[in-house]
Amino acid sequence: MTTPNPSTQTTRTDSQDHPLLAVEGLTTHIETEGGTIHAVDGVSFQVDRGETVCIVGESGSGKSVTCESLTEIVPQPPASIVDGSIQFDGEPLHDVDEAFMRRIRGNRIAHIFQNPQQALDPVYTVGDQIVEAIQIHETVPETTARERAIDLLRQVGIPSASDRVDEYPHEFSGGMCQRVAIAIALAADPDLLIADEPTTAVDVTVQARLIEVLRSLADGGMSVLLITHDLRVVAALADRVLVMYGGTIVERGPVSSVFTQPSHPYTQALFDSYDELSRRSDRSARDEIPTNGCRFRNECPHAVDACAEDDQPAFHAVARGDHSVSCVHYGPSGDPDAILEASRDARPVTSAEVTDDD
Ligand code: SF4
Repeated sequence: MTTPNPSTQTTRTDSQDHPLLAVEGLTTHIETEGGTIHAVDGVSFQVDRGETVCIVGESGSGKSVTCESLTEIVPQPPASIVDGSIQFDGEPLHDVDEAFMRRIRGNRIAHIFQNPQQALDPVYTVGDQIVEAIQIHETVPETTARERAIDLLRQVGIPSASDRVDEYPHEFSGGMCQRVAIAIALAADPDLLIADEPTTAVDVTVQARLIEVLRSLADGGMSVLLITHDLRVVAALADRVLVMYGGTIVERGPVSSVFTQPSHPYTQALFDSYDELSRRSDRSARDEIPTNGCRFRNECPHAVDACAEDDQPAFHAVARGDHSVSCVHYGPSGDPDAILEASRDARPVTSAEVTDDD
């Protein structure tokens, strides 16, 4: 039994009446010399307790800015969160003061990033850094916090944790540093872990081990919001998938349904050539993106005049569960057959491919 540090506490409701996270119409702009980028453009989604939701899309699709907007760690300026509401555990997370947001960050919502060096201080041992994170959250003696730090290192798969707790970050490999960063994120026992491309900067063997760590956290009941451009990681971890393009969500649904029947033309393109699409630069993708109608219409082989009308096309159900897609062809006057035919050719990616790479 731990004693919460009163200065860091927010109220946990443990209520099942509402999702852990509910985002509605989130809109974030970024000012650049070339004009305003609509980085996140009216995004809505939920994360339930114990659920792993993956946001997938190419670089510049708005995945990271969406997640950094949730706890306002997106740099403001040049970014500004201009619209939307965020409910976390039934309480508003928008329009709150910085002191409240600081208590949320790290305590109830933790972030890990592609580069673990962002989370690690080279002049302190990894143990000291985990102990500090624990003592911000809990009022516990140093010896208790140290034992807990060793337990956390074991939990994320660091061998000889009781010895390595006194080592410095430079004595760890990149994959090990990422595990230490996860241990620091877990120190506060957060309700929601936001992981931004945590497996991108490591080789496939380390990637598979990090996937195991993230899967064990999800199995333990933690909610995870995972950002990745790697569909193999999505297949291995996700309960639900959100596909982003041009700052908008274009397809959403259970991973099994989206992967067996990718229904938005962009999702199909991503599945067909995700290595190529996910790595194209922000600018090459951004230059072509309209700010009204369907953002994908300049690249879509199925575009019709209606795709340029109004705002983002409405979501329409396409399959079992809550699998839906933002595309005019799935509406009452559309013709989805040609698009669904293409889904049979889209390359399904399975978690087995992750195993095959090891
Ligand atoms: S709304 Fe139009 S442009 Fe957008 S994906 Fe559907 S067919 Fe293509």
